[in-house]
Amino acid sequence: MSLALADVVLSYPDGDRRLTALDRVGVEVARGELAAVVGPSGSGKSSLLAVAATLLRPDAGRVVIAGRDTGGLSERQRTELRRESVGIVFQQANLVPSLTAVEQLLAMAHLRGRRPREARARAEALLERVGLTGAQRRRRPHQLSGGERQRVNLARALFSGPAVLLVDEPTSALDHERGADVMRLLVEVTHEHRTATVLVTHDRSLLPSADSIYEMADGKLTALAAAVSE
Ligand code: ADP
Ligand code: MG
Repeated sequence: MSLALADVVLSYPDGDRRLTALDRVGVEVARGELAAVVGPSGSGKSSLLAVAATLLRPDAGRVVIAGRDTGGLSERQRTELRRESVGIVFQQANLVPSLTAVEQLLAMAHLRGRRPREARARAEALLERVGLTGAQRRRRPHQLSGGERQRVNLARALFSGPAVLLVDEPTSALDHERGADVMRLLVEVTHEHRTATVLVTHDRSLLPSADSIYEMADGKLTALAAAVSE
């Protein structure tokens, strides 16, 4: 399994008590597979992604990424693993206002020490793959639509060739048709890039194209449908 969570408990301080955001959550996603998580606001979906991304340490349970149990890792090792193996697409695109689409990806290459020419070719190819034209690839975020910004965001998340791709409500700001387009794209890149993808969404009409479907309610995760193994 490329991503496995087992018996994960996460709580937040809540006055003089603690609020349980994840209550013994377990999920496994193989490479090339997309798992969708639905559930109401406040049910724990973003918390699940934060733990899977090693941005938060759970109170209990195991988080395994690309075969590595993250429990015993230092902060530095976790950051390293995240950079190498986890692509994250947040609800807000979090793009740098002054950079063009290509430069958003190249900024990551710089952090990762890739060779400039090779990095540029990879950035252009990924942006083309997610549907941006040559002209769009040269635009800054304010010159792109919400859907195009999410595509840049997705291309940037794929840049390092991550084993795990975590996507939080990417379609919430888009109309239905554009949301469905982004969903289709996510399924395709999951197969092409062989990522273990977890998609959080509140749009149930997008679910049929997922390999497996889970429901989050009050911090508890339940499988609604499992992928048919081939
Ligand atoms: P969802 O993404 O499904 O809307 P979240 O994972 O964001 O749910 O939140 C789950 C619960 O945890 C909610 O009750 C929320 O208020 C609470 N919560 C989320 N983040 C924090 C935080 N940083 N500190 C305290 N409580 C939080
Ligand atoms: Mg959320």
